[in-house]
Amino acid sequence: IELHIIPLKMDSLSNSGLIIVLHDITAIRKLERMRSEFVANVSHELKTPIAAVKGFAETLLSGSVSDEKTTRSFLQIIYDESERLNRLIGDILELSKIESKREPLHLAPIQLDSFLNSVVEMMRPEADRKKITLELEAPEDVYIEGDEDKLRQVFINLLSNGINYTPENGSVKMVLQTLGDPEGEYDRVMISVIDTGIGIPKKDLPRIFERFYRVDKARSRSSGGTGLGLSIVKHLVELHQGSIRVESRHGLGSTFIVELPVLHTWND
Ligand code: ADP
Repeated sequence: IELHIIPLKMDSLSNSGLIIVLHDITAIRKLERMRSEFVANVSHELKTPIAAVKGFAETLLSGSVSDEKTTRSFLQIIYDESERLNRLIGDILELSKIESKREPLHLAPIQLDSFLNSVVEMMRPEADRKKITLELEAPEDVYIEGDEDKLRQVFINLLSNGINYTPENGSVKMVLQTLGDPEGEYDRVMISVIDTGIGIPKKDLPRIFERFYRVDKARSRSSGGTGLGLSIVKHLVELHQGSIRVESRHGLGSTFIVELPVLHTWND
């Protein structure tokens, strides 16, 4: 609470009263604190790859590395860290655009089964590289209203996490189900991304949608993660009047469940 005391002068010689103004500034302060925490986090996240790029470039420039193999491995690190910086900046801009609601959604009907199929096929090369089985189970013809680019990003992020956090020879499956009365119009769809990966410890589950939150920083960093993917996903799903939740058993796998409102359904 902020307190302002303003003396009231009736004439020029004496104070004849006071106005006391009480301002509840909790919400403003909270926002300010969140903003400055975000800036601190961003700076920290940017500093790490910049330090690596700078350090390895300095070593190469000093001329102290003579063999080609070491030179190439240092250049590879510089390249990878620049890529990470690029992704990080892209994700930060994306998040700030979504949060400030500067960009309206471009809504159009989307036929979910063929849309999800195209997303799965985009991710197949990445899954193949890790010998991960990638499947889609979408038995029904369901339409939703949404922004195709934004929703593509949602499911790419979820699938790519599934692939990233699942060891070789595991599986990632996307399942589309409709919710509600099977005789009538369905009003929601449920899209689950199920992996057989490393899972998420129970204590971390409530926090993984937070910006920059990672269960294992080293692992996320080495797989190129920015720690922003899931917070972007959550924002985008909520912009579509949907919700997202996660179920996971540490060491056994994770399931991310997105629920979205349905536009129409056809059953024949
Ligand atoms: P990152 O870029 O680090 O993957 P995200 O916001 O996408 O960031 O995810 C946040 C954290 O949640 C990850 O660092 C990881 O620890 C955990 N996580 C996300 N998806 C999975 C998954 N499918 N399996 C296990 N852990 C996951």
